[in-house]
Amino acid sequence: HAKDSGRSTYSFFNKDMDRDLNERLQLESALKDAIGTPQLTLHYQPQFDVASGDIVGVEALMRWHSPVLGDVSPSKFIPLAEDTGLIMPLGAWCLEEACRQLAQWRKAGFQGLMAVNISVRQLVRPDFFDLLESVLAGTDIPAHRLELELTESLMMDNVDASLEVVRRLKALQLTLSIDDFGTGYSSLSYLKQFSVDSLKIDQSFIRGLSDAQQSRPLVRAIVQMAHSLELRVIAEGVETSEQLAILRQEGVDVAQGYFLGRPEPAKVISGLLAEQAMSLPAAQKG
Ligand code: C2E
Ligand code: MG
Ligand code: MG
Ligand code: MG
Repeated sequence: HAKDSGRSTYSFFNKDMDRDLNERLQLESALKDAIGTPQLTLHYQPQFDVASGDIVGVEALMRWHSPVLGDVSPSKFIPLAEDTGLIMPLGAWCLEEACRQLAQWRKAGFQGLMAVNISVRQLVRPDFFDLLESVLAGTDIPAHRLELELTESLMMDNVDASLEVVRRLKALQLTLSIDDFGTGYSSLSYLKQFSVDSLKIDQSFIRGLSDAQQSRPLVRAIVQMAHSLELRVIAEGVETSEQLAILRQEGVDVAQGYFLGRPEPAKVISGLLAEQAMSLPAAQKG
């Protein structure tokens, strides 16, 4: 009996692994086919200055609608793209498209930042810098208006290489932020060495502001530390007015989340930016 059940357990796991592998292969080939087609688009989520309420930035977020698989979440296809190397063409497209869109919004008077998520696999490729330089030159965007969002855990995996890359990115005068801050393991000494511009407090801490998780002391500590290092603090995942009020009291600089605005197609954001441009006093325009 023991032998029988052992064997059936073995084949059960095998079947499970086959199914997972098949699913992955199907997803990978569908993603490969999607690159360069309208299946892949960018949505943009506005980022608001907490004090003035102005839109001071937008984050580009990839969207994939497959005719076969339907909508596939970035949290599913981005890790796959990272594992398979598809993140190179995908990431290049995202950067080009986001900068093209920013150039258009700048013509309409927008003075804020475009934030683009960058995977560490893109960063460590020497040709990433060529891509950045050509995109910036081609769109005439001042480098500091492009913000690259890097994730903390990935940078901490290889501190020396990341320090070198960050140094080179800052030499190009790009704006840099650490995404999902607080979920990784960066020590305070590293934070000082990485000359980034902003910390994006992870959504889990913002969620914890309105329930029993009591993350307010953590948010307060992050803001105080960031400000003493002269870093800007962005809160992501703001879903309620209560959370926003607490973040304002704690001195967070920029807020982003469903309560303020969801990720939307470019034309919806164009409307928001046009409204903002009209409501600013003439002296502040241009
Ligand atoms: P992220 O960069 O931390 O982006 C924040 C995620 O939270 C986005 O999910 C956004 O749609 C979602 N979000 C925004 N506001 C709220 C809110 O109030 N409540 C909740 N519950 N969620 C909110 P999304 O678009 O599904 O992207 C997930 C992750 O996929 C991103 O996390 C980022 O790590 C990655 N990603 C998305 N687009 C790209 C890309 O173009 N390149 C790379 N490398 N990664 C990307
Ligand atoms: Mg991000
Ligand atoms: Mg994040
Ligand atoms: Mg994330």
